[in-house]
Amino acid sequence: ADSNILGIVFWDLDGTIIQANDYFLKLIGYTRAELLEGQVSWKDMTPSEYAYVDARAIEEMNTHGFLATPFEKEYLRKDGSRVPVLIGSTLLAPSQSQGVSFILDVSERKELRQKDEFISMASHELKTPLTSIVAYTDLLRLVLEQEGSQQALGYVLKMEAQLEKLTRLVSDLLDISRVQADKLTYAQELVGMDDLVREVVENIQLTTPRHRILIKGKAAGELIGDRDRLGQVVLNLLSNAIKYSPQAETVVVSLARTPEEIAVSVQDFGIGIPAHCQVRIFERFYRGSSHMEKRFPGLGIGLYIAQQIIAHYGGRIWVESVEGQGSTFTFALPLQRGEGGSLL
Ligand code: ADP
Repeated sequence: ADSNILGIVFWDLDGTIIQANDYFLKLIGYTRAELLEGQVSWKDMTPSEYAYVDARAIEEMNTHGFLATPFEKEYLRKDGSRVPVLIGSTLLAPSQSQGVSFILDVSERKELRQKDEFISMASHELKTPLTSIVAYTDLLRLVLEQEGSQQALGYVLKMEAQLEKLTRLVSDLLDISRVQADKLTYAQELVGMDDLVREVVENIQLTTPRHRILIKGKAAGELIGDRDRLGQVVLNLLSNAIKYSPQAETVVVSLARTPEEIAVSVQDFGIGIPAHCQVRIFERFYRGSSHMEKRFPGLGIGLYIAQQIIAHYGGRIWVESVEGQGSTFTFALPLQRGEGGSLL
């Protein structure tokens, strides 16, 4: 109980909390003095709509041995706010009224779940109108090309560049809901890493005249994988490198190959990442410190998706970075041995 990695509460069926550890007291916002004075009752802390789940658990403990199946409920904190918890309970002995519960705070998990649900819904809703705008813009460009109207054509090209960004964003959002539902699909095709990287670099170079993107080294090998997904990883790393190095002029992409792996690094000379953030940046929705948020818009999903894709191929992805100097993101993919021992 003293290790305080989760809430532990000893209670009586009449509502009394006999003893609780610091984790639980902190969770519900009461002091130990208030607990000892008998001010804390699990019944009073339970919002009325959850009374039946407590009753069901008590019934289960009484009828099927001492243990209740873990369930989710909410507690009312002292300040009136609510905290969602996962709770597992057992009676201390059969046909007694006292028991113990183990309580996990699931606020963060619940928030993530709600975010996932919202994103899945919103991205599907956005996709249809976006697809139709892209198609009409394409038509509009063709008409303007025929008419030779240069100024209007310039505007349409700008629109198309922004639409491409929007499409990428919506497709990242769709991917995230697919990852969550374990429905991300992967094609199986022969992918030449050198060609793929060059293609992605050429495309992104068109949209960023400020930075010069250099390619060094060669992977000189092919993988069996999904070209678009692997391209997406390179693209996500490159767009970050550009986004987070607004003052720099160069981004370096390096390719290398060992007998077992192909490695691709993207190095920038930008703002870098503080050590305490480096461990979290691959988490979904994680973004660097809040003061950055206004300067560098984003959703905190690019690296998460990249990591999921690399993990699918049994590869590794990591970052080395010094704050104020820049970052290097590297991913390494294992080479598979094809028939006849040739490296694929
Ligand atoms: P987003 O860029 O939309 O926030 P990502 O998942 O791509 O989402 O990145 C997560 C976080 O990692 C970013 O918010 C940023 O703090 C940090 N980060 C990623 N790439 C870089 C980079 N090249 N330089 C500095 N920080 C980076």
